[in-house]
Amino acid sequence: MNTLIIYAHPEPKSFNGALKDLAVSELQMLGHQVQVSDLYAMNFKAVADQDDFHQRQVQDFFKYGLEQNHASQTSGFAQDIKDEQDKLLWADFVIFQFPLWWYSVPAILKGWFDRVFAAGFVHGSEIGRYEHGGLKGRKAMLSVTTGIRQEAFTPYGMEGDIHEQILYHINHGILYYSGMKPVEPFLVWKPTQSEELRKQYLTDYKTRLHQLDEIPLISYHPNGHYDETMQLKKEYR
Ligand SMILES: Cc1cc2nc3c(=O)[nH]c(=O)nc-3n(C[C@H](O)[C@H](O)[C@H](O)COP(=O)(O)OP(=O)(O)OC[C@H]3O[C@@H](n4cnc5c(N)ncnc54)[C@H](O)[C@@H]3O)c2cc1C
Repeated sequence: MNTLIIYAHPEPKSFNGALKDLAVSELQMLGHQVQVSDLYAMNFKAVADQDDFHQRQVQDFFKYGLEQNHASQTSGFAQDIKDEQDKLLWADFVIFQFPLWWYSVPAILKGWFDRVFAAGFVHGSEIGRYEHGGLKGRKAMLSVTTGIRQEAFTPYGMEGDIHEQILYHINHGILYYSGMKPVEPFLVWKPTQSEELRKQYLTDYKTRLHQLDEIPLISYHPNGHYDETMQLKKEYR
């Protein structure tokens, strides 16, 4: 299997770094092909702007999504975007390794999504979205560390439910939207708690990596379950 790891942590010796390194070595040992986008090491540009395109379709008013569509049709993306899009097309399985920052991904990874998951590439009037999205046929998994204990991420916890309130905008709003099939995330709760706990997490992650094909998909509704006002049809509620 071709596996791509998108890694967003500024410190190689961090626990995120350890999880990324473990994934690379285990997956290679299992015979998978592995590529890593180490966004901080690459100094990946996180800001979406005019420099992302070789030539503009419209000169006097900059509309980012419109220029993305144009670049998708004319091979007009800046090289760093094109390189990441090529990696995605190569991949069967994509792992996103990051610490939870402000209930979301670090800005460098948000910028990666803004620039790489482009209109005309992962979604658009000619492609579609969700199960029709441009990255269909691929699976994706979030591997996330937190700074707060698990109990706080339950439905009545102070942080909110990790699946429905914290990770939903990534798993549903970005990955599923793009056509990928998100699988259950690998969650590391507050790895600073103890060395023993960290060792256990590394063991658990190793087990998870050995079973990539068997990780349950997150169940989301397909386009057809929504009516023309984008409401879930009554029979699926
Ligand atoms: C801007 C910002 C926003 C944040 N927002 C949130 C938020 O909204 N919600 C939330 O819950 N948290 C939040 N946090 C906290 C953040 O999620 C955690 O600090 C982070 O997830 C911890 O992971 P780490 O990899 O950075 O840990 P590190 O602190 O890098 O690592 C933890 C420990 O693991 C050790 N370690 C490294 N490698 C190994 C190894 N191979 N074996 C054993 N031990 C090892 C390290 O030495 C260290 O002692 C935020 C933090 C920041 C900076």
